[in-house]
Amino acid sequence: MIFKGSERFSEFSPFLEYEDQESATWLKAALEYANEPLPAQHRTKIAVNATLPAVRPDLISSVLASFGTFGTVKIKIGGAGSDLEQDLARVLETNRLFPEAKIRLDANGCFSVADAVAFSQKITALPIEYFEQPVATIEELVQLRHQLQASGVELKIAADESIRKAVDPLEVSRLGAADIAVLKVQPLGGIRSALEIARTSSLAPVISSALESSIGIAHGLQLAASMTDLDYACGLATASLLAADVVTEPLIPTNGFLEVTEPVPDQELLKQFAVDAETQASWHQRLDRCLALLEA
Ligand SMILES: [Mg+2]
Repeated sequence: MIFKGSERFSEFSPFLEYEDQESATWLKAALEYANEPLPAQHRTKIAVNATLPAVRPDLISSVLASFGTFGTVKIKIGGAGSDLEQDLARVLETNRLFPEAKIRLDANGCFSVADAVAFSQKITALPIEYFEQPVATIEELVQLRHQLQASGVELKIAADESIRKAVDPLEVSRLGAADIAVLKVQPLGGIRSALEIARTSSLAPVISSALESSIGIAHGLQLAASMTDLDYACGLATASLLAADVVTEPLIPTNGFLEVTEPVPDQELLKQFAVDAETQASWHQRLDRCLALLEA
């Protein structure tokens, strides 16, 4: 849902399968962005990474072409229908085509600890920045880090799902389960709450989108702009993964950077991509239920 508050346009876009309780956290973020003043900014442009989904090796160049110049590429591995061999082939081919690019891997928690160790041992020669959520649980992340250390593999681990879907987003930091925290505005309940998590945890932040339109991605840009320390490229260049957008100038990076802006939706595009009346009604009901939870 795209709506305008007292300050600016905002987006409420929890995934369809999410329960109301989890979606209400996303709504809290959307309302804060719409109605509250933004925190102080420390930068006006944000370095972003390209993202490579699980495509065949011969399609890598054309998929990555939509990101323009990039210094960092995130490669999705471990998804449904792919196997370790194919994942490895995709990573190696990406490195062959873009030898200067830093690589980060994201398995969305799909690997077992054993597979994650085996995979990590095969990529030690590559410029791997970090491996994001190789395994599903915080306990497995801790195990994995111990096993990597024991086998002499130096590889940074990032936590995404373990932070955004956790009851306590700081548990990862407390248990030493990762080096890097992937922070997303909507799942963490807003820019202020994400800033607080970054401040309290000992992890290096990477700000990412939750696959929003350019309106929602702008929430992440503001969070990235407000971070005091930001050493890694952010995962905010996801507009090109969408078939269409609601702004006339989608947030597509130039030379690996996105400008920090407050995009405004285009009325014609909003009309063009409006959902049918039944879907609209179900979203309004979802909004009401989530509002009730926030007010409870
Ligand atoms: Mg991720």
